Amino acid sequence: AATAMLIPLAACGSSRGGNSGSSSSKDASDVNIGISMPEQMLERWKIDGSNLKKQLEGYGYKVTLQYADGKTDLQTSQIQNMANNGMDYVVVASIDGTSTGAACEQAQSNGAKIIAYDRLIMNTDAVDYYATFSLEEVGKMQGEYIEKALGLKDGKKGPFNVELMAGSPTDNNAGYYFKGAWSVLGKYYKSGVLQAKSGKVPADETEWQSIGIDNWDRQKAQNEMENRINSFYNDGTKLDAVLAQNDAEALGTVNAVEGAGWDYYPVITGQDAEKANVQAIVKGKQSETVYKDTRELAKATAQMIKDLVDGKTPEAADTFNNGTKDVPTQLLTPVSVDKTNLKEVLVDGGYISAKDAGLE
Ligand code: BGC
Repeated sequence: AATAMLIPLAACGSSRGGNSGSSSSKDASDVNIGISMPEQMLERWKIDGSNLKKQLEGYGYKVTLQYADGKTDLQTSQIQNMANNGMDYVVVASIDGTSTGAACEQAQSNGAKIIAYDRLIMNTDAVDYYATFSLEEVGKMQGEYIEKALGLKDGKKGPFNVELMAGSPTDNNAGYYFKGAWSVLGKYYKSGVLQAKSGKVPADETEWQSIGIDNWDRQKAQNEMENRINSFYNDGTKLDAVLAQNDAEALGTVNAVEGAGWDYYPVITGQDAEKANVQAIVKGKQSETVYKDTRELAKATAQMIKDLVDGKTPEAADTFNNGTKDVPTQLLTPVSVDKTNLKEVLVDGGYISAKDAGLE
């Protein structure tokens, strides 16, 4: 960790450029950055953290990377430590965006600029920029995948049995993901073309938390799907599709289906292109995942910080309201992947090797 530096950096102004010769920037090695990531259960956060650290160190900055083990208290104290250690920039992927604000305010008043990474920090002024993927688009892609796979656009009337799960009720992203999926699927539930035998269908997209899976936990998703399968689909009733909103939920669903011993897999969506899920797609167990190139998110975030260090305005064409302010936001583009484009997008794109994908 960086040595304690108790002078509020804001008071030092931007001319603290040392011997760089530029009045608008300081020496790269004087730039201290704290990164707070939510957990390491999911591969993606490990890749995000290490890529971001690598990128920033590539610019010569000093970087402290911490993981909060899915515990909001731990994340708060890690950010507080970053504040106390005089970090110039703090990057936060919140476990719960409504609980990181106070610690970020502390960091801000100690002179740090705060960047929300992937998930927005809510209800506070202490967030300067936000970088993420087009959130609603992710859910829309999942919904459209189910729509197409079941032939709904071709007028197939079903009724089809489609079970729905949303993300963690504490994750601000999860509401957007569900909203995107519901913008496609909602009308079919209303017309009766789609139904869920479990009855677990929210009245509208604002009720998504009622079908949320705590912490996006794979085991909890598996338990949930086992319960629904045992109660409603173990008498030969076909389960046509499952909206799983990330790859942990998708894997939990695959496991539950395998436990049921059926001779088919429903259409199962996902998100993140995690290694195990890519393999599951290759094997025909999972149908789709929404790939978000976390290398690009890390790059965009590192560039934002570099721009700020250099006294430039970072690229942020959109805004997201966090309940207190409109936060300048850079949105990256997700890509829907299934077995037809998996090799081209993920393997040829260098995200995963052919071997890790289970292709050789
Ligand atoms: C992220 C997803 C991830 C999920 C669980 C979301 O906020 O955007 O990529 O699967 O959290 O960690």
